Amino acid sequence: MTTNLLQVNNLKQYFPIKGGFFGRRVNDVKAVDDISFAVKEGETLSIVGESGCGKSTTGRAILRLDEPTSGEVSFNGVDLLSLNGREMRKQRKDLQIIFQDPYASINPRQTVRKVLDEAMEIQNVVPRKDRADRMMELMETVGLGRHQLDRFPHEFSGGQRQRIGIARALAVDPKLIVCDESVSALDVSIQAQVLNLLKKLQKDFNLTYLFISHDLGVVRHISDRVMVMYLGKIVEIGDKKSVFDNPKHPYTKTLLSAIPVPDPTAERDQIVLRGDVPSPIDPPTGCRFHTRCPFATDKCKEEVPELRQDADLMKDGHNAACHYIEEIESGEMKPKYK
Ligand code: SF4
Repeated sequence: MTTNLLQVNNLKQYFPIKGGFFGRRVNDVKAVDDISFAVKEGETLSIVGESGCGKSTTGRAILRLDEPTSGEVSFNGVDLLSLNGREMRKQRKDLQIIFQDPYASINPRQTVRKVLDEAMEIQNVVPRKDRADRMMELMETVGLGRHQLDRFPHEFSGGQRQRIGIARALAVDPKLIVCDESVSALDVSIQAQVLNLLKKLQKDFNLTYLFISHDLGVVRHISDRVMVMYLGKIVEIGDKKSVFDNPKHPYTKTLLSAIPVPDPTAERDQIVLRGDVPSPIDPPTGCRFHTRCPFATDKCKEEVPELRQDADLMKDGHNAACHYIEEIESGEMKPKYK
């Protein structure tokens, strides 16, 4: 049985808004609001949603790059939020991140050799005498040449720089990597190469990925399971096939209907959302999606829907947070607009 490598319970990440003469806390941006989920060892869980839904904030909170407001993050049985700075630094060996922007995430004044050496030095994972060999091995692992070790970041293309970012993460032999929009800044053909590399590395090194992306085409390619977020909440989670082929939350259906299809003449039922994403400072009551949902009722404005599974309509592990899964599915409830 595959065990959970990461267990997140009731995670909240609020950012204070200060105001007035004394700079007091007057409100909060509720970027992530009470979410719970698990990631199994060796799998890829993708977090998707529009900009501002809380997906990147979730990744950063798990790694404690931003200190979470409350909740539990258990990694490999260790309660990360209870660790002091020194203990957390030790855990960081197993928890790495690959950022979106390969240009910004690598020091432009350091050669690749220095970037990799520093990563190994901080975590003290490879004895100094073995580092040169390890660096050459890493370069080959990510599809770069050994002879490129003494080059500076500006001498590489965007895709190659992202490979350096991957080599830096791998240098410390991690267990879990948070890929935060890691291929979003790359051209489509380069994206595919980097995604294939990430898949190969996952197999070779039994890596676990938390893959954060707004691009559902990319998510479909890389994920085992998918978690959809809206305004700081999880609205749907399940294995990739279930969520993509059989979405149950109106918001997931909307996102999926917007994926481009290769055949421009193909008939499709595209759902267009009304209005903008509301402010996370003062999110809507009840179901946070009710201000944009074509099925919303008074109950939706008042009651927060639980993440739940309808055993007749959904596979095990597939859950959606909507009061009306059955009614929408049966056609008993019709959208008020299209
Ligand atoms: Fe729409 Fe109501 Fe379901 Fe929310 S609970 S997704 S508002 S139908």
